[in-house]
Amino acid sequence: MTIFWHRRDLRISDNAGLYRALKAGGPVLPIFIFDYEILSKLPSEDARVVFIHDSVTALAEAYREHGGDLRVFYGKPLNVWQDIKKEYDLAAVYTNRDYEPYAKVRDLAVKELLAEDGIEFHDYKDQIIFESHEVQKNDGGPYTVYTPYWRKWRTIMESRMVPFEGGEISYYLKPYPSEKYLKNLLQGKVKESIPTLAEMGFKEIQPDIPSKEVPRKIIRSYNETRDIPGIKGTSELSVHFRHGTISIRDKARKALGLNETYLKELVWRDFYSNILQAFPRVVDGPFRPEYEAIPWENDEKQFKAWCEGKTGVPIVDAGMRQLNESGWMHNRVRMIVASYLTKHLLIDWRWGEGYFAEKLLDYDLASNNGGWQWAAGCGTDAQPYFRIFNYESQQKKFDPEYKYVKEWVSEFGTPDYPAEPLVEHKWGRERALRVYKEALAEARG
Ligand SMILES: Cc1cc2nc3c(=O)[nH]c(=O)nc-3n(C[C@H](O)[C@H](O)[C@H](O)COP(=O)(O)OP(=O)(O)OC[C@H]3O[C@@H](n4cnc5c(N)ncnc54)[C@H](O)[C@@H]3O)c2cc1C
Repeated sequence: MTIFWHRRDLRISDNAGLYRALKAGGPVLPIFIFDYEILSKLPSEDARVVFIHDSVTALAEAYREHGGDLRVFYGKPLNVWQDIKKEYDLAAVYTNRDYEPYAKVRDLAVKELLAEDGIEFHDYKDQIIFESHEVQKNDGGPYTVYTPYWRKWRTIMESRMVPFEGGEISYYLKPYPSEKYLKNLLQGKVKESIPTLAEMGFKEIQPDIPSKEVPRKIIRSYNETRDIPGIKGTSELSVHFRHGTISIRDKARKALGLNETYLKELVWRDFYSNILQAFPRVVDGPFRPEYEAIPWENDEKQFKAWCEGKTGVPIVDAGMRQLNESGWMHNRVRMIVASYLTKHLLIDWRWGEGYFAEKLLDYDLASNNGGWQWAAGCGTDAQPYFRIFNYESQQKKFDPEYKYVKEWVSEFGTPDYPAEPLVEHKWGRERALRVYKEALAEARG
């Protein structure tokens, strides 16, 4: 018997690892593990856990429609695998690769545990189009700047075309027809029910989850609308990409014909995953080590005001309240709030990174870390420290009627809203320039 282990790929269709497991013959039992190591560190009210629970429930139903089922465990992965090994006569385990450091350590431990009994462990690329080693500079080594990365990404993507639906498609974007082989599922319902949220210590909240389907017109006009936070001008698919409830290949294929700017945004995901794979040290510190020398102010009161959306900078406050209330924030505004925190307030980017990690429904270590290091100027393809976002001109350019601000900051325009920002632009900019410049000069000797 074979097991397919779902993680960041909570779907049946176009699933690389599932396809290979089923195609190998089966019978295949799909499983999911609610990881105690991760869940025990989260607050009892967490929209992501609810989203995952709902998605796992839907996945189990989808398998049942095909005569199989999903077995769901709750525990420490290694302990769960020890039990699985005892219970089933296993030949192989299939899964899709996860590139986060914790996941890599976990998977290696599971692989070794299975190997003790001669059980094979097969893992595949599924959540990104290219792994870091597949898009390398001409002289070797990973790209650290997005634009040349994108050019090479595109060249490689177009270098191998295969027939598809009467035309041609890149080999790298073609779907894996997992559905075709569902007859190889282990037949019958599993007797164990899915652990409830309450059993795992979580509250049954009802997060507002964006749809998996995006109207074509949003993608078609994406390059014109994507920077305007007051309208629905982006796909809002990030939570689905994060948990694999949609296929990246499917969305990239569609983007190819509709809007290149959109495709390029999808490639940012691959780019930041590439950085995390090639430079795992970015998890703990700046990509450019000299930025470790910045003497952050780290004023806790100011950090609290930023978190709560009470800085007196309307677009920053609107963004933080959107995050706190909905678990999502528009990309343009993510850049503005991150710049305000790291430049105007001189607060360590890791504080902001950590707050986003707690609150974002689409939280993804690689993209979040990349976004924060970019904003603070210390990342790979970074905004240089001396380019400091002017929140007033950003407001004028992207939300001139204050539509977005008014949607999230109800007291804006009344005496209840602060008359002055915590740190005003001109003064904050000059302080940031001075502090960054001096610290970097000293660090560079
Ligand atoms: C400080 C900061 C932190 C961020 N943290 C995260 C995070 O934790 N998780 C996350 O998925 N994205 C993160 N982003 C990237 C980006 O803001 C979100 O992916 C985007 O806002 C999600 O909304 P959307 O699905 O409507 O995106 P769209 O604009 O519709 O883009 C489509 C998809 O492309 C990908 N994408 C777009 N822009 C980026 C980008 N700059 N970097 C990486 N992928 C991108 C996402 O998967 C997104 O869903 C962060 C950006 C910044 C500046």
